[in-house]
Amino acid sequence: MSLRRSRDITSLVGAAREGDPRAVARLVTLVEDGDPLLREISAALAPYAVRAQVIGLTGSPGVGKSTTTNELVRAYRSAGLRVGVLAVDPSSPFTGGAILGDRVRMQDHATDPGVYIRSMANRGALGGLSEAALQAALLMDASGRDIVLLETVGVGQAEVEVASLADTTVVMLAPGMGDAIQAVKAGILEVADVFVVNKADRDGADATYHDIQGMIGLGEREAGQWRPPVVKAVAARGEGIDGIIGAIAKHRAWLDEHGELQRRRERRAAAEIEGIALGVLRARIGTLRHDEALPTLAAEVAAGELDPFAAADRLLSGLDHASDRDG
Ligand code: GDP
Repeated sequence: MSLRRSRDITSLVGAAREGDPRAVARLVTLVEDGDPLLREISAALAPYAVRAQVIGLTGSPGVGKSTTTNELVRAYRSAGLRVGVLAVDPSSPFTGGAILGDRVRMQDHATDPGVYIRSMANRGALGGLSEAALQAALLMDASGRDIVLLETVGVGQAEVEVASLADTTVVMLAPGMGDAIQAVKAGILEVADVFVVNKADRDGADATYHDIQGMIGLGEREAGQWRPPVVKAVAARGEGIDGIIGAIAKHRAWLDEHGELQRRRERRAAAEIEGIALGVLRARIGTLRHDEALPTLAAEVAAGELDPFAAADRLLSGLDHASDRDG
């Protein structure tokens, strides 16, 4: 069925708001495809997408994110909360589904209607996965999730960017992975609100714990600023999960107390607006390509008759004229 009529959109939005997993799945697919109908859907859902607590989870592959996510879902579910899980792979050129789906070991929750699980990989429909992930998180929020877990596969720049869009960003480390150093390199210390040293059953866990404590201690912090706690866990045995949940709750309370939650959500909204605007710009430039504007400029630049900055200026002023005509 194609979604041409507003009536279809209204009923889809209605079903999503009721928490119907198929409706949510459809909506997330529309996000991935950068479907033009998103504009209308987003407008219909925006008033409802302000409730969920968004928790980012990042760390090197193999550190135990899936295992931990699974345990967190279990814990939040037993507290009666509805949970959405979004597993995001910003560096993969492949589409989501099977690849990430296999990775997310969530069979425990497969039949629970209170849990919605989805994976996303980079499709670039709107130009960036972080924007797509944001929109998908917003849809999950609007569909009545209390908690949205945003899990990324690694600790590269793109992953850090996604995770940092959360209300609370949890960074996972494990002994013997050189993680503490890598975390610093990826700029993770700046975005981490909670550190988890997982695989605390392994040798070297104490060393990793002290390494990261040391690095947190070195960071400059003004009075009243949040100091990320470090929690030890053995996710594979479900140990330390309460500690992680406690640390997340504490951070959330701190955000509320300091007006930070609002600031973070505004930052998230800014990233979203920027992403949409860039997508629109890209699409318009794409139109110009068919208009011969870009090839003509490219030929001039290649021939050394025009510098690329001047060419870009002309391309952009062409956009202005095009939108004047449209408007
Ligand atoms: P991810 O790639 O970060 O999502 O990591 P996974 O959750 O897939 O875990 C990677 C491997 O580590 C799996 O084989 C898990 O069973 C194992 N694992 C997870 N947590 C622990 C733990 O606390 N201790 C030990 N020894 N192994 C763990």
